[in-house]
Amino acid sequence: MGYRWLRWSTEHIGHRLTGSVQGARAEAAADSLFRLSGLPLVQRFPFRAEAWARGTVRLTIGEGTAWSHHQAVALANTPLEADVEAPLLDAGNGLASDWEALGEHVAGHAVLVNLGLVGAPSGAKNLHRSEKAALARAAGAASVLFVNQVEGGVLLTGTASIDGTLLNIPAACIAAEDGAALRERLHSGAPITARLTMSNTSAVVEANNVIAEIPGTTRPEEVIVVGGHLDSWDLASGATDNGLGSFSILDLARAMATMPAPERTVRFVLFMGEEQGLLGSRALVQHYRASGELQRIRAMINLDMSGNPQGFAVGGPEGWGALLASACASVRAVDSASFQGRAEEALWLHSDHQPFLLAGVPVIYPLSDLGKHVYGCYHSSCDDIHLVDPQAMVNNVRFVGALIYWLSAQETLPSHFTSAVLRERLIAAGLEEPLRIGGDWPWD
Ligand SMILES: [Zn+2]
Repeated sequence: MGYRWLRWSTEHIGHRLTGSVQGARAEAAADSLFRLSGLPLVQRFPFRAEAWARGTVRLTIGEGTAWSHHQAVALANTPLEADVEAPLLDAGNGLASDWEALGEHVAGHAVLVNLGLVGAPSGAKNLHRSEKAALARAAGAASVLFVNQVEGGVLLTGTASIDGTLLNIPAACIAAEDGAALRERLHSGAPITARLTMSNTSAVVEANNVIAEIPGTTRPEEVIVVGGHLDSWDLASGATDNGLGSFSILDLARAMATMPAPERTVRFVLFMGEEQGLLGSRALVQHYRASGELQRIRAMINLDMSGNPQGFAVGGPEGWGALLASACASVRAVDSASFQGRAEEALWLHSDHQPFLLAGVPVIYPLSDLGKHVYGCYHSSCDDIHLVDPQAMVNNVRFVGALIYWLSAQETLPSHFTSAVLRERLIAAGLEEPLRIGGDWPWD
């Protein structure tokens, strides 16, 4: 059912951008599907947040007296109004070493930067587009043209801001083919001028996380949250990011509503606002903290671009690693043909589990490999239903469902993180710096 519902949504709703008409329709559809499936408790959790939305963008390239238009999409959190004309400069991969090598040449230029790593020295670590944009700005660039590495005219969006505030120089993505052609002409010595004009909006929008619950039979006060973001970027229908996860959760809820209730309470949460900065999950966790509800949440399972999971990873204190390993072994005992039963311990950021983790809640995510053809379309104009394997969604429901029943049947579950242990683990995982850059580091 999950796949059929998702296909319907991509055909009749389209994208699910938070704050847009389509986003509101997706919330209404999810709410209805939970109710139609017979979930006993369904509610919407409204929140308000500042959200950026694209308006128009125009890229014109000048060579001598000839000007031509090129396809481009604005990255999110770029200026509301900009009109910048500047000579074009190749800044390679946009890593710290690239800016160092260019030095003062960057000032006042439109810079061409690869999103992926091209011809980088071995061992070089790529940076997030927002980090590259911040480095470009610090080096004095007037605008940034990000070159996508996926062939076929594919354009990518996503935030260009490291901390949620608007970047003060325009940044847009252009296709791999366009980037290659511009580079070739730049390297032949031709002076090129890039004029990037954009107009966007940023406004306080109202959106709703859509939540359904099955009360536990013997430990109803203990809650296992299974969540994933329903919202998507607006360049395509967001079928894999994150239709895969969110519609699998709708189907999981449908299936569980027909089965005996688990011992602990299961709460299904479809978040909005993830793409603009985890807006819905931050608001919900803040509410749980204020209301005392947080202590009841024993674990949070996050499905973001997960499909056909082959195991699970957990970020939790002492006891969770061993517990998850037995859970995976027990799920594998039921179906060793399609589930490898991998179990890992890891800490990671940048999806809706992050606010839960920073509040000390143990977090779990399915281990998936969707393939290059899917990851190349993430946040892009090609993230559509043709990329979705129906069986991958069925296996989300089967294996995540089995994990939930197994966890909810345990006599006891290990505790939350203490503040000290969480701090130590985040530092060991190298996550202090990115959390500080994003203004999310909970300690001083
Ligand atoms: Zn996502």
